[in-house]
Amino acid sequence: MKRYGLIGYPLSHSFSKQYFEEKFKKENLTDCRYENFPLQSLDELPGLLEDKYELRGFNVTIPYKEKILSRLDHMDENSHDIGAVNTVKISRNQGKLFLKGYNTDSHGFYASLLPFLNKPITDALILGTGGASKAVACVLKKLGISCLFVSRHPVKSDHISYSDVCGPVLYHSHLIINTTPIGMYPDTEACPDIPYEFITAKHLLFDLIYNPSETKFLVRGKEMGARVVNGMEMLRLQAEKAWEIWNDDQE
Ligand code: NAP
Repeated sequence: MKRYGLIGYPLSHSFSKQYFEEKFKKENLTDCRYENFPLQSLDELPGLLEDKYELRGFNVTIPYKEKILSRLDHMDENSHDIGAVNTVKISRNQGKLFLKGYNTDSHGFYASLLPFLNKPITDALILGTGGASKAVACVLKKLGISCLFVSRHPVKSDHISYSDVCGPVLYHSHLIINTTPIGMYPDTEACPDIPYEFITAKHLLFDLIYNPSETKFLVRGKEMGARVVNGMEMLRLQAEKAWEIWNDDQE
């Protein structure tokens, strides 16, 4: 049996288990299983790995995407640059475990953004400064797009507050990415506090949220003529990239 899974806490609304169970069924991968492992602390990880000796890899979600770094033997360059890991590959050599970390959120974001970059974009606003914002910023930097973070507590030179997001800021930043949980089910009437009246047909609004498929943030952007993208394709692509890593003998 080939086992995979997800660590995080809590895991009640996890997408990954459902996604991989459907994939195994569709592709007739009868020897594969994907399980949720809710860990109240990362100190429970060594015991889990000992217990689940058939585990080949796992995904990592909130609150461990950054905390997992200290438990890894190695990280690929991309996850090192981002400073967060959402995929771990497990190798075993004569009973000794080797854990390597990757960040597939950045791949998912990059590949789902790419079809929308037919119109050149130079400046982006990233709403939120959590783990996902770091993967987003790393991708945008590699694409040569300048980023400004919008935070409730702006502390760095490239951070501004929501009250600083005004007409001139939106005039320059044609890409706005919501990496906050605002507007996520069940709080679907909420949206980030930005002046939507300055959004135009030149703007592209990307919401990492996938439930609901159209958040209030996207609805309000669309009303102003902007192009909009939700987080569903990103989610699917990051999961497929993790699968590729777990099953690539060269990784
Ligand atoms: P996180 O580490 O908890 O960070 C979210 C950030 O949003 C926080 O650091 C905070 O930034 C801001 N924030 C949180 N609550 C807020 C509130 N009530 N009002 C305003 N700002 C708030 O979470 P994450 O891992 O980065 O994930 C963020 C979102 O992206 C989640 O909804 C997650 O489901 C989604 N996501 C989607 C995908 C995908 O594949 N589609 C992948 C990863 C994540 P400040 O403190 O600076 O304001």
